[in-house]
Amino acid sequence: MLARSVTALSQALAAKEISSVELTQLYLDRIALHNPSINAFITVDARKSLAQAKAADELRAVGKGGAGAGPLTGIPLAQKDIFCSKGWLTTCGSKMLGNFVSPYDATVIERFNDAGAVMLGKTNMDEFAMGSSNETSYYGAVKNPWDRGRVSGGSSGGSAAAVAARLAPAATGTDTGGSIRQPAALCNLTGLKPTYGVVSRYGMIAFASSLDQAGPMGRTAEDCALLLNTMVGFDPRDSTSVSREKEDYLGMLSARADGKPLTGLKIGLPQEFFGASERTGCTAEVMHLVEEAIAEYRKLGAETVDISLPNMKLSVPAYYVIAPAEASSNLSRFDGVRYGYRAPEYGDLNEMYFRSRAQGFGDEVKRRILIGTYVLSHGYYDAYYLQAQRIRRLIANDFVAAFRQCDVIMGPTSPSTAFSLGEKAADPVQMYLSDIYTIAVNLAGLPGMSIPCGFANSLPAGLQLIGDYFCEAKLLNIAHRYQQATDWHLRYPPEIG
Ligand code: GLN
Repeated sequence: MLARSVTALSQALAAKEISSVELTQLYLDRIALHNPSINAFITVDARKSLAQAKAADELRAVGKGGAGAGPLTGIPLAQKDIFCSKGWLTTCGSKMLGNFVSPYDATVIERFNDAGAVMLGKTNMDEFAMGSSNETSYYGAVKNPWDRGRVSGGSSGGSAAAVAARLAPAATGTDTGGSIRQPAALCNLTGLKPTYGVVSRYGMIAFASSLDQAGPMGRTAEDCALLLNTMVGFDPRDSTSVSREKEDYLGMLSARADGKPLTGLKIGLPQEFFGASERTGCTAEVMHLVEEAIAEYRKLGAETVDISLPNMKLSVPAYYVIAPAEASSNLSRFDGVRYGYRAPEYGDLNEMYFRSRAQGFGDEVKRRILIGTYVLSHGYYDAYYLQAQRIRRLIANDFVAAFRQCDVIMGPTSPSTAFSLGEKAADPVQMYLSDIYTIAVNLAGLPGMSIPCGFANSLPAGLQLIGDYFCEAKLLNIAHRYQQATDWHLRYPPEIG
């Protein structure tokens, strides 16, 4: 069962080969066995999960073939701890929310609940999703199941590690500057960050609201399509939610075809992604694997065109102005008054604020708040924040021009495979540079994916696919075609078994 995709598990449940209670118990047992050494979950509540599983079994039992049941009914899923989940501890990886039991569900959670999915637990993450290695979590670093001395990637590293170690068949993540794609790459998963506005942000704890977007993480493009079907849709409670006709991402995946099924597809290769390694920091091993993956795409019939994203080099600096600016505003709500951590001792009201925030937030979060308030301050607003917004527009325009020449853009997801725990922890700029390939996509609001494309020294690498606005179905198809021809995505960490 553990080797099966969500799609296959769904068939097994429908065929009554296994019940949801049995399946959920299987994963709970595995979590109990392996989570202590991986630290992928912050919260597991077997009683709650099994109650959901029982309800799903009952739904599937009603009538012939379980009328009312959908493809996700009874499927256990891991949810990133950034999603408010009613009755569950929802920490966002922070001490600040260490005692916060959410009184309501995020839209994403509500939709999975309505689909009958089972919540297996809440996954570990960088504090308030700030990080690229999952080392900033108050609940400790997540260990990469491929090598437990290495990082799982951040900030959705708990979700990635959980699926890679097969503690869950699939999971959710969120991506503000790469946090779905980068951990997917480092843990050998398929992850999709949809177009901004496609998935509701309601109840998803805000980091940088104009960049945050939730998406699925699984082993295959097919599983991501299945999860995305449930996640998307207009939500009046999110003012940036996009109203558009629903697509059936799974139904739109192409059937297996031999020969050159991607004939006519134009893949754009930005010179800035493939140029001198001193600019991108990309290792020769990762570059080699990405080039081999692109060669495979050529075999499938696609052609490549050289393109340019001239403002790409400004994406990391622009992001690290805009994201902290928004974060400093979003995080002002954590004041120790209504919910969350409150310092045990204080003199007056102001001291209560100061101490609660000083004790509740970790170093990286404080660093972002300081940068954010600085760039928004009266004297520096024009020089930093406004300038970064202008650059953001230029970057988005670069993509508009690029998509006149190609259907999809490809390149590495992360400049390296998983690095060692602690390796970059003391140098924030080095850490920020590991987002060099992913951040521009968020600044432009485009959809992006990472898919497994091979191994260097037994560590997985990811190929990034970037699509035009609302081209999720196309991206999933392009990924699916590759997965029909390769088996990188089916490998799992030998150490965990
Ligand atoms: N690594 C980036 C940051 O720390 C992106 C994180 C994310 O996508 N949530 O801001």
